Amino acid sequence: MKLRFPLAVLLIVHPVRAQMISSNELLGLAYSYRLTDITSRRFPQSRLLQWIDPLLATGRFTSSPAGTSAEGRTVYLYTYGTGTTKILLWSQMHGDESTATMALVDLLNLFANAHDHPLVTSIRTHLTLLMVPMLNPDGAERFQRRTAQQIDMNRDALRLATPEARILKTLQETHRPSFGFNLHDQDPRSTVGQSKEVAAIALLAPAVDDANSDTPERTRAKLVAARIVQAITPLVPGHITRYDDTFEPRAFGDNIQKWGTSTILIESGGWRDDPEKMHLRTTNVVALLAAFLSIAEGDYHQADPAVYETLPKNGRNLFDIVIRGASFKAGFSVPPLTVDIGINVDQEVDSTGLIVPMATIVDVGDLSTFGAYREFDGTGMMFDSTVIELKKSLPEKDLLHLLEHIRSR
Ligand SMILES: [Zn+2]
Repeated sequence: MKLRFPLAVLLIVHPVRAQMISSNELLGLAYSYRLTDITSRRFPQSRLLQWIDPLLATGRFTSSPAGTSAEGRTVYLYTYGTGTTKILLWSQMHGDESTATMALVDLLNLFANAHDHPLVTSIRTHLTLLMVPMLNPDGAERFQRRTAQQIDMNRDALRLATPEARILKTLQETHRPSFGFNLHDQDPRSTVGQSKEVAAIALLAPAVDDANSDTPERTRAKLVAARIVQAITPLVPGHITRYDDTFEPRAFGDNIQKWGTSTILIESGGWRDDPEKMHLRTTNVVALLAAFLSIAEGDYHQADPAVYETLPKNGRNLFDIVIRGASFKAGFSVPPLTVDIGINVDQEVDSTGLIVPMATIVDVGDLSTFGAYREFDGTGMMFDSTVIELKKSLPEKDLLHLLEHIRSR
């Protein structure tokens, strides 16, 4: 009887707590402690430290060097809480994937300034959070995916050739965290399955082998992912996907899962009218708070794994720009056809360091199954091969200018 009583209490208490911690409450915290200085997703490490150092001065969390990048930048580890369950979080191992880095700064702001909030108290007494925002500061300096040595460090978990990969491996080995959060940005043109809907957040409990086996660690990661889905659904309803679960033997998420840490990948994708990804930054804060609380309170054990397992997979049915129903004459000797024109825009840096959005024509034909961030009605517009050439890139402003010109002709 003595053993049963506390169990019964737990069963009664947990649903009440789960109800108490609503998405709205987490969203309220995320908005209240959002660092207003951050308005762009492109920032170097020096800027990141300017945001974090005043928060560090509150003494609520600590900083320690985790190692040094190839170009000699110190990679910092921030530690919060005194709980027995350790959680390791790392962001921006790809230098141009900064959405979660912004979210981690917001969380540090929350921990620095709302130390006594009941939810924050629950986090810091049950958990020890080990946070590495910006694992690849050299890449972040150039806003590029790879490290200064031109290595994709997410394919370096086995060889450990790069100093950045060794930092992450050492952190996992030293602390043996129960949970790990692998924080990335995916292509904003990813979609919810084969629909035209943008994938805002993709989640994954990475595989540990080719057979896609479930280990106890991976099963726990799936349950926490299910809790994340429930928490962020009001923010990005119908826009949550499951990332490709093919085992990648050289990737960190897969290996850290294999090394005994329940690992969850969070990929921030795209969101309409939000190129700086501020909505997804807030969504990351809510996702991580929900994950922390479900781990702190142990309530993820009651999660339904199907909530994660039944998420639609990522698709690729989105362009940045589509011109619908234009007339296109590919050459002198062939008649014109009515086509849709699919265009993607990527940020390139010119020789003076200026960011130039470059538009590339990536497809021509029936693109009726594809959506776009921006659509133009091409009815009555005539294009020929001097303008439309597959794989041809031109500055986005020149393309838009050209469209105006053709439209008014
Ligand atoms: Zn990435």
